[in-house]
Amino acid sequence: MRRLLLLLLVIAVAYFLGHQQEWIPPQHDPLAPLDLADPPGLATEWKLSRLRDAPEACTAVLEASTLRFAPEPDREMGGFCAFRNVVALERAEIPLPGGLKVTCPLAAALQLWMREVVQPAARRYLDAEVARIDHLGSYACRRVYGRAAGRPSQHATANAIDIAGFRLADGRRVSVLGGWQGTPAEQAFLKDLHAGACSLFRGVLGPDYNAAHRDHFHLEMGPYGLCR
Ligand SMILES: [Zn+2]
Repeated sequence: MRRLLLLLLVIAVAYFLGHQQEWIPPQHDPLAPLDLADPPGLATEWKLSRLRDAPEACTAVLEASTLRFAPEPDREMGGFCAFRNVVALERAEIPLPGGLKVTCPLAAALQLWMREVVQPAARRYLDAEVARIDHLGSYACRRVYGRAAGRPSQHATANAIDIAGFRLADGRRVSVLGGWQGTPAEQAFLKDLHAGACSLFRGVLGPDYNAAHRDHFHLEMGPYGLCR
């Protein structure tokens, strides 16, 4: 009897090891390619960060998604400022007005954040969908905080975007400036967006970081791994 149980156990383990790939959902499996239609999982942030050095793989990820975009030609703008693997967004999960140009990995992270974080939080806390996101721009040829010296900002390569507020389908508007200390629902909504961003973007800075960020979320795909 005991020998039979042992045999069944060995068969079960062998079966599991042989079918491991099928047992792990793709969003938790670091070997499965990133699909923006999947919900975020344990491997999503890692897969998004890997797109930084894989322009062709990144373009393929965007092409397979519902995002509409036009690739921008690579170009050097002098000094540390450049477009490399940048796309012009034509249609994202939530409209971002202004013909926005961002790096491909940033576009992928934005699309996931909008669908999996922003809209669920808006429905949960504000009982409405977000119809439009107001931003303060992406590309800017400058160093961090616009200082004359110091490290280049991720904005200098369109690898960062500053998000200022959210227009709801019912006409309400929640700004980062007013809502961070606003009604309990606005606070919960914005805190959720910030926390959710930290598991998708490589760098997130908000009003709790410093006064320079009191009116926006800075979201970037740089190499630093910030969440403040
Ligand atoms: Zn910024």
